[in-house]
Amino acid sequence: MTSPPSQSDSTGTPSLPSPAFETLRAETLAVAAGRPPRVVDAPLNTPPTFAATYVGTHQPGSGDLGYGRYGNPSWSATEEAIGALEGGRALTYSSGMAAAHAVLELLPVGSSIVLPANCYLGVAAAVAERASRYGLTVRTVDVADTAAVIAAARGADMLWVETPTNPTMEVADLPAIGAGVTGETLFVVDNTFATPLLQQPLSSGAHIVLHSATKFLSGHSDAVMGALVVPRHDTTRYQALETTRKLHGAIPGTMESYLVLRGIRTLAVRLVKAQANAAVLAERLAEHPAVGRVRYPGLAHDPGHQVASKVMAGFGSLLSIELADTASAEALVSAASVWVFATSLGGVDSMFERRRRWAGELSSVPDGLIRMSVGIEHVEDLWADLEHALRSLPPYSTAGGQ
Ligand SMILES: *Cc1c(COP(=O)(O)O)cnc(C)c1O
Repeated sequence: MTSPPSQSDSTGTPSLPSPAFETLRAETLAVAAGRPPRVVDAPLNTPPTFAATYVGTHQPGSGDLGYGRYGNPSWSATEEAIGALEGGRALTYSSGMAAAHAVLELLPVGSSIVLPANCYLGVAAAVAERASRYGLTVRTVDVADTAAVIAAARGADMLWVETPTNPTMEVADLPAIGAGVTGETLFVVDNTFATPLLQQPLSSGAHIVLHSATKFLSGHSDAVMGALVVPRHDTTRYQALETTRKLHGAIPGTMESYLVLRGIRTLAVRLVKAQANAAVLAERLAEHPAVGRVRYPGLAHDPGHQVASKVMAGFGSLLSIELADTASAEALVSAASVWVFATSLGGVDSMFERRRRWAGELSSVPDGLIRMSVGIEHVEDLWADLEHALRSLPPYSTAGGQ
């Protein structure tokens, strides 16, 4: 929503021109969207609104907010920014998983869904849980195999793609998949890893884009929130998703909305720095004798490199490395002191973890795989910390790594 330039508001307070979003690039939108109209003496930032209810009116068609579960100016500001970045209309939820559930609610009993063979654990678990209760048919597919994805999606009610995938870093050719998906198949893309700065799935024909705003959008590991984005013209689906949010009550908190919007202001600079760090570390890790395979689409020999070069504006700041075994992986994450041993990703701090420490992680993920979310620290401090921790590990090959 762009407010047209005007001379004054209804009270006669002078107001100033606001930018036309359609003409702006992502870096500028991240800074400019979700602000109040430019009125003299108005705050530059949308203030957090703590409200369980609002003053109402009997006037028909006034469109008043009504109640704190139905809407909030703090959500709206954050949604304006996320929608502008993805090129659509956004709805925010209490978490990425709440957003995922709102999407799965669109599936009638007995539907069929295609899921990535590797994807965020919570999504796979949520689908499995619904499958038994609602008679869903679930098929999994390697998202990097475009022909297989399109074939699996034929006749399916929903195609769910995550790219790059967590934690195996497969890259999907979204434009090719979008061109191949036809008919009534709802095409959903989890864009958490790439962020809207590296790819905008709606432009590839996705019907719904999902974000765990907990990750890059927030960027500071201090808020849990989710978002969905639909094309601007798709009022029907927007309303269906909004109704689910109202009735399920999985609404974002005011403080979370404020923090995520605050995080979005610096998304572009954070991503550029973290991505540059990741590129350097991926190259060095690939040369290290204790490290087996490095999964990072920015590496020339990575299976996702060609597609990522074509369809993404950058390779992101996540990578996975394989160490010889569980013991080596645990030794690495325990020995580091700058890197934080923690789950989650997309924050300013560099974080890593052995993914198989989670009981639900797929057995296709190697025991010694460590997912690394590279932050914005000085790259040489990150490398020194890693190198020190790697020094005590056995070489990958002689330790029995495959
Ligand atoms: C974290 C994550 C989710 C779930 O989001 P929450 O905010 O933790 O509920 C979904 N998809 C991906 C790719 C994630 O990394």
